[in-house]
Amino acid sequence: MLTITQLKNAVDANWSRQVEWLKTLTSFPSERGEEASCQDWVAREFAGRGWSVDRYRLSDVSMAHLPGYSPVMDTDYQRAVQVVAAVRAPEQKGRSLILQGHVDVVPAGPKAMWTDPPYQPTVRGNRLYGRGSNDMKSGVTAMVFAMDALRTAGYAPAADVYVQTVTEEECTGNGALSTLARGYRADACLIPEPTHQKILRGTLGVMWFRLSIRGRPVHVSESENGTNAILSAYHVIKALQVFTAELNERVKSHPWFSKLPAPIKFNPGKIRGGDWASSTPAWCEVDCRIAVLPGTPLEAFRNELSAVVSAASLQDPFLSNNPPEIAWNGFQADDYVLEPGSTFEATMRAAHEAATGKAPEETLLPAVTDCRFYGRYYGIPSLCYGASGADSHGFDEYVELDSLKETTLAIADCIQRWCGVRAVT
Ligand SMILES: [Zn+2]
Repeated sequence: MLTITQLKNAVDANWSRQVEWLKTLTSFPSERGEEASCQDWVAREFAGRGWSVDRYRLSDVSMAHLPGYSPVMDTDYQRAVQVVAAVRAPEQKGRSLILQGHVDVVPAGPKAMWTDPPYQPTVRGNRLYGRGSNDMKSGVTAMVFAMDALRTAGYAPAADVYVQTVTEEECTGNGALSTLARGYRADACLIPEPTHQKILRGTLGVMWFRLSIRGRPVHVSESENGTNAILSAYHVIKALQVFTAELNERVKSHPWFSKLPAPIKFNPGKIRGGDWASSTPAWCEVDCRIAVLPGTPLEAFRNELSAVVSAASLQDPFLSNNPPEIAWNGFQADDYVLEPGSTFEATMRAAHEAATGKAPEETLLPAVTDCRFYGRYYGIPSLCYGASGADSHGFDEYVELDSLKETTLAIADCIQRWCGVRAVT
């Protein structure tokens, strides 16, 4: 084992390269469907380190039958490139490890609202700004440069390590699922999502759905004879807000998620509809996200939500004869809790303490991460631990560089504690 000082010196030696690497990674506008050039660059970087690279597309993988799969519409999986680099040890002396990070980012929104353009990463003081700088290209650099630190110090893991960069984390999780469908397994999985250097204890389930609502179009001068699909959508949205308030009452008896105030969030996130300003709208589509009440099977939750939409529709003569359609398009994600007491969590805690001099705090997230695939469906102890930052889905997203450096050190130490190390020349 290396001392923490030896490891720290190695992280320091590579630090300016790590910041440049993060700037390059953040400069790729890897929004959904546009991740391939980013992934191609990552694959070349991994190959350049001598790692054995498996680069494939989601369309190459059969996984619709697997637990955790989320259905998709209007997305081309031939464009969804995934990367798994195997760093194999000649002899397995320690425990194997998956290091996973997602490179997909959410849309930047109106660029004029950013201080600097979202895909021109900018360092000011201790912060690196840019879409994805925090969530979670910071974490991708942490896992890669943690491996580099061991190498700089003259060591490599004494067990197999799989370094994975996936897409689809922000909408389905099918990128993570594809690595498991492809057969990659290990004794533990670490995902450096930006957790403010806390251990992530658990995440809620999340569901996406598209409401399609009809209207009866008439000239606006006689609107009392028609219906307005946009206003009807608003009526259904209000019913779902009432449903959400009920769910937040029910979650108060949950052993973990009762610790969070009103963790069930519902968001009508994207809307389109209507054809003409002087015609009442004949159609409206709303893409929605809602958190799933933990402990509820997804099918039961879908049924309950559908009943809420039906009941709201019955209050309206037109909608009761033309009920809204619900398409389950995107996340169908179960909740996940890493139960306390795992050896892997103890290892990550010890590494954090060695790097920072303090015991780590733990946190719960009212959202999803990819941990559920490894931990819930494949029994691989899986946790998130990553740097501090803010505004992950907002304007001027940033990561704090000193926290990223410390996180890189903690992950390097976690790797050597978990996998063991061997000297390399
Ligand atoms: Zn993320």
